[in-house]
Amino acid sequence: METCEVLIVGGGPAGSSCAGRLRQAGVDVLLLDKQAFPRQKPCAGWITPAVLTILALDAGEYRKNRVLQDISSFRTGLIDGKTVVTSYGTTVSYGIRRSEFDLYLLQRSGVRRSLGETVTILERSGNGWIVNGQIRTRMLVGAGGHFCPVARYLGASIGRENVVAAQVAEFPLTPEEARRCSIPTDMPALFFSRDMKGYGWLFRKGSYLNIGLGRMDVCNLARHTVEYCSFLTRRGYLAADITGRFQGHAYRVFQKQDRRRSVADGALLIGDAAGVARSFSGEGILPAIESGFMAADTILAANGDYRSEQLDAYEAGLNDHFGGGSADAAPSPVSPDIMKFLGARLLSSSLFTRHVLLDRWFLNTNHETLSHSVSSMIGSPPAPLTPRK
Ligand SMILES: Cc1cc2nc3c(=O)[nH]c(=O)nc-3n(C[C@H](O)[C@H](O)[C@H](O)COP(=O)(O)OP(=O)(O)OC[C@H]3O[C@@H](n4cnc5c(N)ncnc54)[C@H](O)[C@@H]3O)c2cc1C
Repeated sequence: METCEVLIVGGGPAGSSCAGRLRQAGVDVLLLDKQAFPRQKPCAGWITPAVLTILALDAGEYRKNRVLQDISSFRTGLIDGKTVVTSYGTTVSYGIRRSEFDLYLLQRSGVRRSLGETVTILERSGNGWIVNGQIRTRMLVGAGGHFCPVARYLGASIGRENVVAAQVAEFPLTPEEARRCSIPTDMPALFFSRDMKGYGWLFRKGSYLNIGLGRMDVCNLARHTVEYCSFLTRRGYLAADITGRFQGHAYRVFQKQDRRRSVADGALLIGDAAGVARSFSGEGILPAIESGFMAADTILAANGDYRSEQLDAYEAGLNDHFGGGSADAAPSPVSPDIMKFLGARLLSSSLFTRHVLLDRWFLNTNHETLSHSVSSMIGSPPAPLTPRK
């Protein structure tokens, strides 16, 4: 039987960050992902500068043969309403393609991995686990996204939780299509629903176009997406013949109440499996990386004793970092009708748009970087992705 000290289920940003940190500390880690990489992940691919900082990612080197789209302005407003353009005159964010970004992070982690291997069976055995009947591990990290099997094992009632439901399409534009697309590459557009339950985006990244819509209620998502696309074509943001195939996905944003249990004897959840995305913007890549590092540090501090009482500090750390007194994690004291009324007025204000909507909620400019994470994560050179024999 194959063995490892820590087995990580999922090779997205959460799993590869956790794995890289543990491997650097000399831990015997194995990472499994059900997909071969590069793989598609439904996502807008917007990252804030804090992502580059926490990963010590060299923008110049990264963009040599991958998309790293500079963003310096935004068009925002209500669907079918007036829009506001906010220009910063400098790069304030970036666009990446998840197929490239996740492959890069996984290669950079240098971790032993098996891709195309779905985790289906988890059994507790003594102080550890047997995974898929063939791998013995002492510690299990659930990084398998919203539907992570480790989260399910720990009791997540997947399918009955409050989620953000989203649909997205990303596809290349021909040079002719790019000429006809009225959204500049450095200016993503965000359009909010009138009921304030979600927003759509239109985002160009190099020669790719990304269109999507996310909502806090899962009802009629496909209909909302169709209506959103027809709004984009009606307003001339999108030519009617430019269409992609939409993919759906769901995930949870951080809430102090009604959280998934993310710590158990010999197990931790990270990233979307733990539900750590930011509640207003839905940003999940940075929280996934941060929770991956926090979990790795917790595992290292446990020093081989993986009873839940040794790991509980991780749950407290999540609450502190993602929910610590921030307006983000607090339930809104304002009724939905007042939200609708206020939303429409506030979104037409350029001051509110710049200082609250963009700076505070979407660009997260007052973000406190995890103190430990910067310098030590300069990764090792990418290793080839080979399937495990
Ligand atoms: C439509 C949409 C748009 C979004 N846009 C943005 C954005 O612009 N910016 C942003 O910051 N966030 C965005 N997010 C959120 C972001 O995509 C997630 O928060 C982020 O991907 C979480 O990373 P993760 O590593 O936890 O999970 P994932 O990236 O989902 O990775 C999980 C991995 O686990 C693997 N896996 C799953 N089950 C198993 C199994 N049983 N066995 C083995 N492997 C398994 C999967 O193949 C996958 O590779 C968006 C989300 C959606 C749905």
